[in-house]
Order: sequence, then C-alpha cells, then structure tokens
Amino acid sequence: MSTLQPAWTNAEGADLATALFAETFGSAPAGVWASPGRVNLIGEHTDYNGGLCLPIALPHRTFAALSPRSDDVVRVVSDLAPQAVWAGTLDDVRPGGDLPGWVTYAAGPAWALRDAGMTVHGFDAAFASCVPLGSGLSSSAAIECAAALGLDEVYDLGLATDDDGRARLAALCVRSENLVSGAPTGGLDQAASLRTSAGQALLLDCRDGHTEPVPFDLAAEGLALLVVDTKAPHALVDGQYAARRASCEAAAATLGIPTLREITDLDAALAQLDDPVARQRVRHVVTEIARVEEFVALVRAGRLRDVGPLMIASHESLRVDYEVTVPELDTVVSAAMAAGALGARMTGGGFGGSAIALIEASQVEATVQAVHDAFAERGFGEPAFLVAVAADAGRRVA
Ligand code: ADP
Ligand code: MG
Repeated sequence: MSTLQPAWTNAEGADLATALFAETFGSAPAGVWASPGRVNLIGEHTDYNGGLCLPIALPHRTFAALSPRSDDVVRVVSDLAPQAVWAGTLDDVRPGGDLPGWVTYAAGPAWALRDAGMTVHGFDAAFASCVPLGSGLSSSAAIECAAALGLDEVYDLGLATDDDGRARLAALCVRSENLVSGAPTGGLDQAASLRTSAGQALLLDCRDGHTEPVPFDLAAEGLALLVVDTKAPHALVDGQYAARRASCEAAAATLGIPTLREITDLDAALAQLDDPVARQRVRHVVTEIARVEEFVALVRAGRLRDVGPLMIASHESLRVDYEVTVPELDTVVSAAMAAGALGARMTGGGFGGSAIALIEASQVEATVQAVHDAFAERGFGEPAFLVAVAADAGRRVA
C-alpha cells in the first residue's frame, strides 16, 4: 500500500535546513525562510496568456537557511546533494552564466533583485525541501521564493511585508526562472508561493496581477484533494512547453491582440486562424479561462461539490486540444473517477507531473489503492501520493 508523503512542520524543516547550513558553512544562519509548492485547481496554461488561474499553496515547503555576507561570494547547498556545495560570486549568477541547473533556481533571484536596482551582496544558503521535485508541484518556485524571501529580509528590501511587494518579488522570481534558468514559465507558480493564504485559493488574473482570495475549505465540505505524482518520465518537456507558449503568442499576433485573454468571441477568433493546431490551442486557452470563472462562481456560492465536471472538462481540453497530458495522467483521472471522485484533472504544465482528484474525505485510501492498481495494471511505475490543503504563503519560520 502506498503511503502519503507528509509535509514537514516549520520546526522540522527549519531544523533540517539549519543543520545543513551549520555542517556546510560552520556557523548558524541569520534566519530560515520557507516557501511552498502549489497545486493549481483549474486554469492551466493560461498564465502566459494573460488569463486566470486558481492555485492553492501546498503545506509542502522548501526551507532556506540563509546568511548575508559582506563580500560578493555566493555559496549554496541543497539536501538533495549535501556534498555538492556550489561557490561563486554574484557576477556568476546571471542569464547565460555557466551554473549548475539547480543553482540557477537557488541563486537566480539574487540576479533579478540586483538587476532591478536593489542592493544585494553575497550570501550563504542551505536548502531543505519536502516538495516533490520535478513533479509539476512547483519545487522550482518554492526554492526561488524561499531564497528571495531570505534575501529580501537580510538585505532590508522590504518587499515581503505587503502584497504589492510580494507581487514584485514574485515577478522578479519569474524573471529569474525565465532568464537565468531558461524556463519560459508564466507567473502562476511564484504567485501561489508568495501571495496565497491558508484556507484560501488564489484567483490570479495574469493580465494585471490582480488577485482575489477564494475560500477553499475542503474539510468543512467533508472533501479531500488527493495529489498523484505520476513520476512519468519527462521527455522533451522544455521544448514542448516553449512550443505551446510560442503557438499562443503566434496566434495572438495573427489576431492582432497582445494576448489570447483579449478574445471575446471564440468562434470569430477561430475563423481567423488557418492552422488547425493553432485553433486547438486557442480553444483550450479561451475555454479554460471561462472554466476558472465558473469554478470560482460555484465555490463562492457554496457549491464546491459541483466543480467536478469543470475539472473533467479542463482535463479533456488539455488532453485533446492542448495535447499536454500523458497516459499516466489520463489514467489517474479515469481511475479516480471510477473510484467515485467528484472530479479529477492534471495540474501544472503536463507532459508527466501530477494530477489532482477531488474526493470524499473518507475515500483517500480507496482512491490511492484504485490509482495504484490502475498503474500496476498498465505497467506504469509506482506513483506517489499526498493530500493537499490550502496552506499559507512563504514567510520566515526561524
Ligand atoms: P517543478 O517546479 O514542477 O518541481 P521544475 O522542472 O520546474 O519542476 O523544477 C525542478 C528543478 O528545480 C530541479 O530540477 C532543480 O534544479 C530545482 N530544485 C527545486 N527544488 C530544489 C531543491 N530543494 N534543491 C535543489 N534544487 C531544487
Ligand atoms: Mg517548476
């Protein structure tokens, strides 16, 4: 029987990060900051189209034990490879720099802050994380935002103290992920990590960065949100994600609008596009934005139990029109639904990664078993499971 992956408490995570810091750098850190991974409830591949999305922060966080330095040296270490300390200078941390991939996520925010004119010197940082890595649950934003929160405080930038500042910090982490890490992602992940609140989903309008809290209390409804990390191998992920984004931008250019968000008449827009693939991509984005609005309206009306069909419609649109699911993701959805889930869909960018299922709180074990069995039957590797509740945004924890 598969076990659920627990989230560390703040004390556990802070202790692990502090111990790694002390072992590696021989001193105590100035503090520990933690920032969460996320699941997106609905609104997929809409962020880079100026659209709507609806993430919750996971209770699973990445912890950054961090100290400022008086010079420009940067040293980072992660519990994933505790022997592999990376040391360089702030000047090494930049777009096109010769950095190990993970260091671009861990240290890249320092470049974005400096590039925006803020005064940031060197730092030592040790990271410990219980966010599943590369599983579509945004371990990348969790590590960026944990580092950024630490730098914000030790260098007295004052961004994390209110939502406007956090929006700015999130945008700088996106810039780092795009330019230093070279991943052309939108703004969903960093907003979820920095701008969420416990017990709330975050309605994020990526056209202008406006957010609204949406009450999301699963327990009060007797429900649970099961997350299944398919562990499906990511082949060609980067290229495929970039290709989706590029085709949306090309379609918007053909239509003479800045982003696909500006489409008000879907049929008229589709009629102007000759390429059948472009039509599919546009249809997904426009219908997905409408589904976010419907989902939020249902939740606000106290009808959380009625969102299942929207989740299924989202998954189908991502499978058929956007073509970003894989058989493992489709199998989670079909197995969870056959086991009685109210709704299920892939979450995150796709091409592997994770899916979510909205289920009765009493059905967690039965659904885990059903998905486990379906994977075994199809010869897929063993998936991992966790239960999501809407957790708090990143902050200082020690
Ligand atoms: P996701 O964000 O869905 O987990 P990504 O591919 O966007 O997947 O980001 C995963 C990458 O982020 C990892 O390959 C690694 O480079 C970096 N990363 C995330 N968390 C950590 C961590 N705790 N320690 C080291 N690197 C990390
Ligand atoms: Mg990521």
